[in-house]
Amino acid sequence: MLPEVDALGTIHGSFMRYGFVIDQDRCIGCHACTVACKEEHQVPIGVFRTWVKYVETGEFPDTRRHFGVMRCNHCDDAPCIEICPTHSLFRRSDGIVDFDNRRCIGCKSCMQACPYDALYIDPNSNTAAKCNFCAHRVEQNLEPACVIVCPTQAILAGDLDDSSSKPGAVIANKKTSVRKPEKETLPKLHYVGIHDDLLQPTRLLKQNTLLFADRRDTPMALGNFDAKQTREVYDVPHPVPWGWKIAAYLWTKSIAAGVLLISALLIFFGTPGTRLNIVSPIIALVGVATTLALLIFDLKRPDRFFYMLIKPNFRSWLVLGGNILVVYGALAAAWLFFGWEEFGVPAVIVWSTGVLAIATAAYSAFLFAQAKGRDFWRHKWFNAWQLLVQALVAGSAVQWIVTIFQQPTVFAQLLYFAFTLKMSLVLWLINLAIELILPQRTAEERMARRSLVRGPLSRHFLSLVILGILCPLGIFVFGNSAALATVAAIMALFGLFWFEYVWVRAGQSVPLS
Ligand code: SF4
Repeated sequence: MLPEVDALGTIHGSFMRYGFVIDQDRCIGCHACTVACKEEHQVPIGVFRTWVKYVETGEFPDTRRHFGVMRCNHCDDAPCIEICPTHSLFRRSDGIVDFDNRRCIGCKSCMQACPYDALYIDPNSNTAAKCNFCAHRVEQNLEPACVIVCPTQAILAGDLDDSSSKPGAVIANKKTSVRKPEKETLPKLHYVGIHDDLLQPTRLLKQNTLLFADRRDTPMALGNFDAKQTREVYDVPHPVPWGWKIAAYLWTKSIAAGVLLISALLIFFGTPGTRLNIVSPIIALVGVATTLALLIFDLKRPDRFFYMLIKPNFRSWLVLGGNILVVYGALAAAWLFFGWEEFGVPAVIVWSTGVLAIATAAYSAFLFAQAKGRDFWRHKWFNAWQLLVQALVAGSAVQWIVTIFQQPTVFAQLLYFAFTLKMSLVLWLINLAIELILPQRTAEERMARRSLVRGPLSRHFLSLVILGILCPLGIFVFGNSAALATVAAIMALFGLFWFEYVWVRAGQSVPLS
């Protein structure tokens, strides 16, 4: 059956609501469902479409083990569909959330959007994959492989709206629960008899020593050992999807946006100069090109990056942001053209570039906010403001460094860059303080912030604040040499990259399952 979804993601056709009920009171933790799924879909070693998680409660000798069968929830309001830039993920008219790996570019944003760790990157195809309800079997009137193989009939699949179906009858007659209902994704995987802590992984005590293997990371650093806490004793690996390339992309984007934003403001305050008309747009264009290159370089399928242009999902901020970057690049090129030809850059170009520079700096906040799995990134307006301030830091620092080497006698401009750098560093410091004292709405957010202040990222965070903000600020306030100010500008740029890295890591430090 082909997906009945139009280009805007609207679903057409008759509706059913296929979903699962998993009765954990019946589950014996045998992993037969995991193995059957692997066989049915040829799932490679190390990744899983469904897996059985074990946790233990109580104190020796009075302990108890609980199982939780984890997989895609086929959410009615699936954030993975919204964020997917190429409509690779879609909902069928029977409610199954399926994927077409021929469209996938491997951006991993669905892995950030899904609050349940349901997706992985298939190491063979380098595209995203997950449970698809064995849609090919459903079309043949067969049940999913995991349902057939389960020796205790713990897994039931069918139309949840039909009370005569097996799962529909259970939902109508028994108390069931879903994972993280507060995410408002409307999951269609209901559990009977599941231990509460399996539904909320932040409550679990993560250990380095598991049932069959040791972990190399140190999740213990996130919490103190408490024998009464529910302990995780078996899980599958969940690698962190985004790393230094995404941090570098935020950094180069801040530079690209910041240099022309600072230049537009300088022109507004009446201190134009010919170097602003040529050097600034060149730096911006190099920044835009590097940002796009990093974005493509981070894709698991970089050969398909152009799918974002020919199969775009305009609800995804990855697509919207890409378009903003391209328009901003075009305006920077126009700025350079007028500057190069010595026509003088028309005011309309200056102002529209200024507006697009703000959009370029800030749009990532909306992309990160689409990651429903990551509460730490979900303050979109505050984060947009943060990114704007960071663009001002980057733009001022780069302008100072370039001016001091290229034309150290333009004192008015140097004074202006020193002033904007000082002010933006102060704003950045205030933002960080607000970020740490803002009321923490959820346990996930608390955990992410704790990883910054007391957890595995705390040393990085402290060094960023001292070396990237306080030292440059001190030099600008108390120092009086251009050489020292140049060192301060370099430190601010280094601190900015470090901040992006720490911020991206902190958001992903919270377990989703
Ligand atoms: Fe499945 Fe996660 Fe998408 Fe929900 S958000 S449909 S659980 S992959």
